[in-house]
Amino acid sequence: MSTPLVLVLNCGSSSIKFAIINPQTGDEILTGLAERLFSNDAQLIFKHNGDKTVMAKPDAGHSAALHAVVEFIQQQPGLAEQIKAVGHRVVHGGEHFRGSVLITDEVMRYIDDCNHLAPLHNPANLSGIDIARKVFPQLPHTAVFDTAFHQSMPAKAFIYPLPYELYIHHGVRRYGFHGTSYRYVSEQAAQDLNLPLDNSAMVIAHLGNGASVTAVLDGKSVETSMGMTPNEGIVHGTRSGSIDPSIHEYLADRLELSIQQVNDILWKQSGLLGISGISNDCRTIEDAAARDHERSKLALEIYSYRLARMIASLVPALGRLDGVIFTGGIGENSELIRADVIRQLGFLGLQLDEGRNTATIRGARGPITTDNSPVTALVIPTNEELMIAQDAAHFIDQPTLATTGAAA
Ligand code: AMP
Repeated sequence: MSTPLVLVLNCGSSSIKFAIINPQTGDEILTGLAERLFSNDAQLIFKHNGDKTVMAKPDAGHSAALHAVVEFIQQQPGLAEQIKAVGHRVVHGGEHFRGSVLITDEVMRYIDDCNHLAPLHNPANLSGIDIARKVFPQLPHTAVFDTAFHQSMPAKAFIYPLPYELYIHHGVRRYGFHGTSYRYVSEQAAQDLNLPLDNSAMVIAHLGNGASVTAVLDGKSVETSMGMTPNEGIVHGTRSGSIDPSIHEYLADRLELSIQQVNDILWKQSGLLGISGISNDCRTIEDAAARDHERSKLALEIYSYRLARMIASLVPALGRLDGVIFTGGIGENSELIRADVIRQLGFLGLQLDEGRNTATIRGARGPITTDNSPVTALVIPTNEELMIAQDAAHFIDQPTLATTGAAA
């Protein structure tokens, strides 16, 4: 019998990332992206068997795009029959979801309840689930939450020093994000560090366009840099990270801006883009810095300094430090930022191995500190899709959802 495969879906507001994965081996049978949805330039890109197919789909929304994905899958001999489950990435699960769950109508309602906590992400995730359940009514659908891994944080880590009632009545607390990545990377890192996961203490930096750092003790998140929203914490591509909250009022007053306009500055015009003035893309900034572009040099300096500060500040949550792990596009590729951060963290016992650091890029995995370094720094490419596929595979033999009205 052929191995069951899982379709992994990540529905954003204007894009859908999809993949068909073998949850046992991690092999990606098909990967793709539907992008620029709801615009005249909407298109789908499929990568399958070494071939790349680009399909224009002007004005397609989530529904048209998902139907096109299904059509493409059905055209590949034998592929559709092998798909036995669908795994969905959901950004916010609030306090309700501590792990991945089989999606029922009740689960949909709870996800809907979390929409106000992630208004940019959750409604798109939910609409993708809704459509996919109609397109694949016979398959079990699983929701995998970015926030779930951080539900193990103690109250001292997740409660803001605000009136407590704001937490009780309005859910104002720190939730944390990138949890699926942290779950995968912490399991892999424990293997590389030769430690049992349930007796390990590491700080993991997931550095993508959005960036965060998490303290993982014995396999559980005990502190993280992102908060109620994915803006708190370190410098991001276009988001500010943590700043004095009174800057909101100051900007609104001085520039006569609405809250929405101030938010726009803090979410879309800040971070690496805001400081450098040229790009949110770390590669572009590194290239410009190499040509002595002053604001790009400053952007990288601030990025690394704030990251080093954050990593060090998470160590008290662990009580000891077995490893510092880098992942995400920047963590996996920017030898410059990694070197700068590790040098600043020398006092914690990290000794950079320049040769290893330079060599560990583009999907490579391994230590970037010397063999004598009291604390090891590792690079581990993340694989959120595999985690989602494995979680979804757990539900393959569960009863189907016919009674929940999913097929309606
Ligand atoms: P992600 O969101 O995980 O895909 O990460 C995106 C970020 O990774 C962007 O800022 C990219 O510029 C950065 N990145 C990817 N490759 C490199 C590289 N070779 N050097 C520096 N940054 C990189």
